[in-house]
Amino acid sequence: MNHTNYIEKVDKEIAELIKKELKRQREKLLMIASENYADEAILQAQGSILTNKYAEGYPGKRFYQGCEYYDEIENIAIARAKKLFGAEHVNVQPNSGSQANQSVYLAMLAPGDTILGMNLAAGGHLTHGASASSSGKLYKTFSYMVDKETYMIDYNEVERLALEHKPKIIVAGASAYPREIDFKKFREIADKVGAYLLADIAHYAGLVVAGLYPDPMPYADFVTTTTHKTLKGPRSGIIMCKEKYAKQINSAVFPGMQGGPLMHTIAAKAICFKEAMTPEFKKYQQQLLVNSKLLASELMARGYKVLTGGTDCHLILVDLRPNNLTGKDAAIALDEAGIVINKNGVPFDTQSPFITSGIRIGTPSITARGMKEKEIKLIAGWIDTVLKNIADVRVKKNTAEQIKKLCGKFPIYKC
Ligand code: PLP
Repeated sequence: MNHTNYIEKVDKEIAELIKKELKRQREKLLMIASENYADEAILQAQGSILTNKYAEGYPGKRFYQGCEYYDEIENIAIARAKKLFGAEHVNVQPNSGSQANQSVYLAMLAPGDTILGMNLAAGGHLTHGASASSSGKLYKTFSYMVDKETYMIDYNEVERLALEHKPKIIVAGASAYPREIDFKKFREIADKVGAYLLADIAHYAGLVVAGLYPDPMPYADFVTTTTHKTLKGPRSGIIMCKEKYAKQINSAVFPGMQGGPLMHTIAAKAICFKEAMTPEFKKYQQQLLVNSKLLASELMARGYKVLTGGTDCHLILVDLRPNNLTGKDAAIALDEAGIVINKNGVPFDTQSPFITSGIRIGTPSITARGMKEKEIKLIAGWIDTVLKNIADVRVKKNTAEQIKKLCGKFPIYKC
């Protein structure tokens, strides 16, 4: 697949930047937990002529003529998502995970109603009620932290907060929580206060459909996810819910939150759901998990403080305070050495979100390249070497060269 041949003819400047980014994606170890490599079929759908058309409305009820093929595409995406996740109803139109969550709130809450979600500092997402996001501005929000000793969700604390604040929605799900979430417990807590339960599995979705992470579907009223993280699809979101909420959810997405759906992305989501039903996808998720657990134990063996003492999913959180490093400095040094991760606050962090005391590391992208245990051991060694020699330009350069060589053995976007 040529990624820039047509662009070059009209806009050399942008073509050049895409080429540089392609080189970066090929030659570095991309280990940001929320990212992945969408395959060529997904890229092709997203770059297709489906971008040309308005299709406001839903299949069979559009506001524009000429949507016959768009209806079929959206119906296929819906049917596949229902099958894949075992959902009663699916809306495949949200443009992102944030819009999926915002649409659930718009459907079920009035401004000023109460949300209880995981605190941003504990690993929750902005849309779970953080003050900077519309969820925190439009609604009254309360948040639960994690336990100070174990860094795990303290379900007694969640229950205490729920009983105290009587939220209308409780959000279970996170952007930086490495352990299993007990959705059954969340359901029990929600039932005690008559709250809806929203499970946001943006990070875990691929593992969930592969049967490797707890499935919230039996317990949650609403399940949202992005499609571009472990699910390995296009950058987007979906909402799943019980049939009884279908009308409210659909009206909240369109016309409540969005206008014309990105039908090229919906086609790409349909392809993603098809791929996620294959045995290869399950194998990929199994390897991703093996890689993540091994990386956690390799880092711990080298003395790093891996929060919660390991991981149950694709991501690892490392507290760098014992190493006298900030997340920011570590992330910059690792990037210079060819390992791209993100700085991440640790629970109860005293550093600002721009500095942070930790890093978050993920295995979805490197596993998508075919890397396994042997490579994980090398990567753990490189991370350690760079973090122990953070200012040493030669160490970083040497590591980057070795990584480029390794990446050459696991090519991505080959042609
Ligand atoms: N929910 C969770 C748990 C996330 O981690 C993210 C993104 O990282 C989102 C929602 C939002 O997704 P998007 O960036 O597509 O808006």
